[in-house]
Amino acid sequence: MKLSQNFSKQLEKVEGMYLTPSEIIEYLYCPRFIYFMNCLNISQHEEQRYKVLLGREIHEGRKRVNRNYLRKKINCTGKDINVYMVSENFHLKGTVDEVLYLEDGTLAPFDYKFAEFKETLYRTHKVQSVLYGLLIKDFYKAEVKKGYICYVRDNYLVKEIPFKEKDFIEAQMIIDEMFSIIQLGFYPKKTKYSIRCVDCCYRNICV
Ligand code: SF4
Repeated sequence: MKLSQNFSKQLEKVEGMYLTPSEIIEYLYCPRFIYFMNCLNISQHEEQRYKVLLGREIHEGRKRVNRNYLRKKINCTGKDINVYMVSENFHLKGTVDEVLYLEDGTLAPFDYKFAEFKETLYRTHKVQSVLYGLLIKDFYKAEVKKGYICYVRDNYLVKEIPFKEKDFIEAQMIIDEMFSIIQLGFYPKKTKYSIRCVDCCYRNICV
């Protein structure tokens, strides 16, 4: 879907309207969620949000991460914990688990996932990290070149994600697409993966 190419240039985002990385992950799971929730005001039932849990892992046990690992492997000189950030420029808000101060003077998001690493990085995990990167860029006015994800159920395996400029551009395009749906009431396409419809709470009204 290339909504952003059609609409976003004409669209002035409403001041004070923000998306969160979690909402954006839900949107990537199925673009229609945002339409049903924000345009029709039909909320999801928590117990039926089954697959969306992909993007909402329980954060626990973070203190057990070996601090020396961060210092030695990541060249991290300091960190802020549980940082709530708001970005007027990107219309984003959210709390990142940690903001790392790296030796090269850049900052990086560090995000805990109560999950195992499955050989390749989930797109949702990467996009979420990039979104935190955008937030950090704007909130701290600092350069962000990479992010880290710590897989709690994989013995606290830490994966580094290099960010390219195109990753930040793609994240902004996704935000634009979402605002197009919310502000213009655009009815988006279904998810490509029909298996996701099986457990979806909107399946009876989604045509
Ligand atoms: S039924 Fe399928 S297409 Fe419709 S909102 Fe649910 S997951 Fe998306």
